[in-house]
Amino acid sequence: MQPVALEDLDIRPTAPLLIVDVDEVLAHFMAGFERYVGRHGYEMRIDRFALFQNLYRPGEAEHIDFETGKTLFDDFFFHGADDLDPVEGAAEALATLSQQAGVVILTNAPAHALESRTGWLSKHGFDYPMILHSGLKGPTIAGMAARTSGPAAFIDDLLPNLDSSAQSAPAVATFQIIADQRLRPYAPTIPDKHDLHEDWATLGPALAAAIS
Ligand SMILES: [Mg+2]
Repeated sequence: MQPVALEDLDIRPTAPLLIVDVDEVLAHFMAGFERYVGRHGYEMRIDRFALFQNLYRPGEAEHIDFETGKTLFDDFFFHGADDLDPVEGAAEALATLSQQAGVVILTNAPAHALESRTGWLSKHGFDYPMILHSGLKGPTIAGMAARTSGPAAFIDDLLPNLDSSAQSAPAVATFQIIADQRLRPYAPTIPDKHDLHEDWATLGPALAAAIS
């Protein structure tokens, strides 16, 4: 699978469109990152909706600083990002949905993640065009959705991206899933605005309804 530039993205002009995030939606990012930092002597204690602020040196009460976290994060996308478990049922659900809808993977990750990200997606049955993105996703989603007259939906774990989508592209239905059970209780959500799911067993049918 190859990454695609936004302007080269093939969007069928009347087909439904699904725009799908990766981490905590298709991939168990927290668990994979936890294994990676564990190999480097850090431990994850999930007690807030954050990344670096859940990482500790063993025995310490204060989480690691931002610089240390950022270095681990950047290195993860060089050396550890192949080792992510797929979220249960996601590949099967998208395979079914893709019979009707175009599927685009929209992931925020550093530029050097390109190879590991595309490799991981292919390996786990997510053979869809991928856009490597940075920043709030709403304007990009609006641009994609404007290229089809069909219904569109966006799935992410992060409320700021979902709010951004609702603001830039109000006609695009928004769905939230936070795959990591430990992180889920701390996640900011607005279920009345962004349909909230715990797994793909309910998310798949909800997406099917949204694009039918
Ligand atoms: Mg994510």
